[in-house]
Amino acid sequence: MLSADLALINANVKTMNPNQPTAQAVAIKKNKIAKVGTNQDIQPLISEGTRVINLEGKTVLPGIIDTHVHVADFGQCLLWLDLCCAESVEDIQSLLKERAEKTPAGKWIFGRGWHQNRFKDKRLPNLSDLDSVVPDNPAVLYHESAMVCVVNSKALGLAGISKQTVAPQGGTIEKDLKSGELTGILRDSATNLIWNVIPEPTEEELLEATSLACQKIAETGVTSVHWLVLSENELPIIQKLHLQGRLPIRVNVVAPEALLEKAVGLQTTDSLMLHLGGAVIASDGYLASKTAALFEPYSDEPQKTGSLLCAGEGLKASVVKIIKAGLQPVIHAMGDKAVDTALTAIEQAKKEAGVDVRFRIEQAAVLNKDLIQRLSAQRVIVSVQPRVIASEFSVWNAKERLGIERARRLFPLKTLLQEDVKVVGGSDCPMEPLNPLLGMQEAVSREDFSEQRLSVEEALGMYTIDAAFSSGEEQVKGSVEEGKLADLTVLSADPAVVEPNKISTISVDTVMVNGKILKG
Ligand SMILES: [Zn+2]
Repeated sequence: MLSADLALINANVKTMNPNQPTAQAVAIKKNKIAKVGTNQDIQPLISEGTRVINLEGKTVLPGIIDTHVHVADFGQCLLWLDLCCAESVEDIQSLLKERAEKTPAGKWIFGRGWHQNRFKDKRLPNLSDLDSVVPDNPAVLYHESAMVCVVNSKALGLAGISKQTVAPQGGTIEKDLKSGELTGILRDSATNLIWNVIPEPTEEELLEATSLACQKIAETGVTSVHWLVLSENELPIIQKLHLQGRLPIRVNVVAPEALLEKAVGLQTTDSLMLHLGGAVIASDGYLASKTAALFEPYSDEPQKTGSLLCAGEGLKASVVKIIKAGLQPVIHAMGDKAVDTALTAIEQAKKEAGVDVRFRIEQAAVLNKDLIQRLSAQRVIVSVQPRVIASEFSVWNAKERLGIERARRLFPLKTLLQEDVKVVGGSDCPMEPLNPLLGMQEAVSREDFSEQRLSVEEALGMYTIDAAFSSGEEQVKGSVEEGKLADLTVLSADPAVVEPNKISTISVDTVMVNGKILKG
C-alpha cells in the first residue's frame, strides 16, 4: 500500500469535481493528489512517515488560477515606494527622502498610491515639494488612480517638458494659475510623456521584481497565473526563472502576437511549471478611453464609436498563424463591434486551419443575444476580470456612457454561463488588486444588474477548473482529484457560508504548489 507524504484531514474540501463535489480529506504523494475522500478513506495511506494536518473544518480549494496578471509590471510596482499610507505631503516627502538616500544619483525613483483625499488640507503634492527632498534623482509619484502623477524637475528635464510644451491630446500639463509655472502635476495622456522616457529595467532588476511578484501572488492563494506579457524583456526572464527553478507558482505564458516567434522559442522542459499558452491580438481598445469599438455611438458622446484595431482578413490571418504555431488565439475585444469581428475571424479561421482549438476572447464586454449565441456555438472562452467589471459601472459610469439597455448587456456573466459559455476570471493586477477572493466577491455580489450575479460555485469555477480548461490543462489541475497535481489553497472560511460581500476578507491559511507548502 502506498504511503502518503502528507494528509489533510477534517477539512471541508470543495473539489470542483462534479463526480465527488465535496470531501473531508486529501492524501498527497510527491507532487500529486493520491486520494480524496473521508478521513477513513485516506487512513490506509497514513503511515509513520506521513505528515498529518488536521484542518479543523477549514476549506480546501483546488489551487486558485488567475487568468490575467501582468507579472512583470506588478513586480516593478512592488519595488516602488508605497504611498498608500501617506496622510500628508510631508509624509510623502519623508518617504521620498529616505528612498533617495538609498538610491544612487541619477537613478529613477518611483512611487505610487497617494491620494490627496487622505490629506488634511487635500492639497496635491507639487514640483517644489519633490525638488526639496530629491534634487539629484528623477522622481515620479503616481496617484492611486494611475491617471495622475507628480514629478520633480529632474524628471521634467529628462522628458523635455517645459512651460512651452503642448500637452498631448486628452492630457494636461498643469501650470500654476497665477505664475504660469509648471506644478509638476501631469494628467491622463500627459503622464505618457514621463512613462516614455523611463528606462527599461535591467535584467537583474526585472528578475528581482518578477520573483518577488510570484511570491506575493502565491501568498494570495494563487497557484497558477496566466502571465500576460507586455514587453519583450519579460520572455528571457520567464525562461531564466523557470530554468533556475525559481518559479514558485505555475505560469501559463500569454504573449502579444508580435512576440509569437520568441514565445514559441521558450523552453518549457517539464511543462508542469511553465506552459506555453496563447498569443494576444487586440481588435479594439477600452471602454474607459472610449476606444472600444461599438456598433452604436457612446451615449454621452454621439460622434464616438471607438474603432477596430484589427479586423477582417488581417485578423483572420493572425488567428490562423497563432493556431499553426501551436498556441491559443486570444483576442482582446471589448465593444460589441469588436466581438462581432473577432467571432467572424474565429469562424473563418476554424474552417481554414481545419482544427478546433480553444479560442479565448479577453473582455467580451458589450454583448447581445446574437453574439452570446455565437460565442456559445464556437465554444469561445470568455476571460474577464470581475474587479474591472465593478470599475466600469462605478468609476466609468457605464449606465450613462452606454445607455441603460447596453449597460444591461455589459459583462452578462450569468447569461453567458446559462448559454454554456465558459467564463474564466483574473485580476488584471497591477491595475486592479491581486486578491482572487475579491474577484470572486465581485462576481457573486455585483451591484449593478444583480440578475447577472453568479453563485459562489460558479465563481469558484472561473478561478479553478474552467481556468485550467482555458489553458488546456484541465487534465492535470483545476480540481481536487486523484492523480492531479497537488496544488491546493486552504481558506479560513467557506466562501459559500460567509456573507457574499465579505468573501474578500477570508484569509488564505495554506498554499500548496506541486505538493510543496509555500505558505502556512
Ligand atoms: Zn491587462
